[in-house]
Amino acid sequence: MPELALPAEDRADGRDKSRAVLTVDLSALAQNWRVLKRRAGDAACAAVVKADAYGLGLAPVAKKLLATGCGHFFVAHLSEAESLRAITPNARIFALNGLPPGSAALFARKDLYPVLGSLPEIEEWAAFCRAEGHKFGAALHIDTGMNRLGLAKADFPAALNLLDAFAPKLIMSHFVSAEDASAPRNRAQIERFEQACALFPAMPASLSNSSGMYLAEAPFFDLTRPGYALYGGNPTPGSDNPMRRVVSLEAFILQVRDIRAGEAAGYNARWTAPSRRRLATIGLGYADGFLRSASCGEIGAEVFAGGAFCPVVGRISMDLSIIDITEAAPLQRGDRVEILGDAICIDDLGRWSGTIGYEILTDLGRRHKRVYVGG
Ligand SMILES: *Cc1c(COP(=O)(O)O)cnc(C)c1O
Repeated sequence: MPELALPAEDRADGRDKSRAVLTVDLSALAQNWRVLKRRAGDAACAAVVKADAYGLGLAPVAKKLLATGCGHFFVAHLSEAESLRAITPNARIFALNGLPPGSAALFARKDLYPVLGSLPEIEEWAAFCRAEGHKFGAALHIDTGMNRLGLAKADFPAALNLLDAFAPKLIMSHFVSAEDASAPRNRAQIERFEQACALFPAMPASLSNSSGMYLAEAPFFDLTRPGYALYGGNPTPGSDNPMRRVVSLEAFILQVRDIRAGEAAGYNARWTAPSRRRLATIGLGYADGFLRSASCGEIGAEVFAGGAFCPVVGRISMDLSIIDITEAAPLQRGDRVEILGDAICIDDLGRWSGTIGYEILTDLGRRHKRVYVGG
């Protein structure tokens, strides 16, 4: 793959150590896809690349996955589907958020498949196909318990009457709590989905997201739809992560100071030194996706520096955070600090921030210097 074009500011100064560095390991991404593909067995394995590939960059991620053999992609929006079509003329591209009113021609023109999830969407797509005299492809989303998107059971008969107006390419549904392998509703959803599949004419079926692929029931059907696991998230919370790390984030120390017991640090003086401490200020804040909530909960975030886990102290501010480096090996201005890497994973940081690793990924933002390796 050719060198990725970086914004001028990234080329200009690799030594701007006031800015954090986000590294995306594309070979680890490819390896994760291969692991999931192998797991899917006879089923095909798609890639979910919505929200700019979970914040990691649609173009570099999709290009790497295409080169690795992935031929099915899921995005959320029509505009994301159009961006992806500009990268690949042949891949099958599904838009999970369905058919916005009046957009059918835009999908059809670029051979993009809306995932139709309600009767009004199906009616509009069928009417468009009849008017054009062509059966364009689309997917059908069946609700099996989420009550978010997807066709309700009461609408199945009306939907069935419209199917021959277009080319149904896929029938799919989505797990409510696949990351909890013990949840009885997983089994119930699989059964409801199987019943729906039996009612509709034969077409490829898809149910499993990342965690769904690790359920004992292993309901792979014809196509699996992992997202999070591709990017290194753990699809089996509570057990070892079978995926390779894709993302690392490092920030740099701007200054170091020693403070006495009883002195406070950060906005609103929410933290007070229990004893003499050595603090470092790093160039990373909530505007960089280091969520302020990671400094507000019972268990705060830690970073890894000087061979030790260093707690964040005081409130995370927009561009800066303060860490306690008293227990670390000597550190100084310009030294690097690991936010995400070998010692700290996105699931850890999600937990410390009162959220999930998914939100950590999608909040990383565009402010870091971005480095893609393994392309
Ligand atoms: C986001 C999404 C996925 C991917 O889920 P992960 O948990 O990231 O693997 C699959 N299917 C649907 C419908 C989704 O919205």
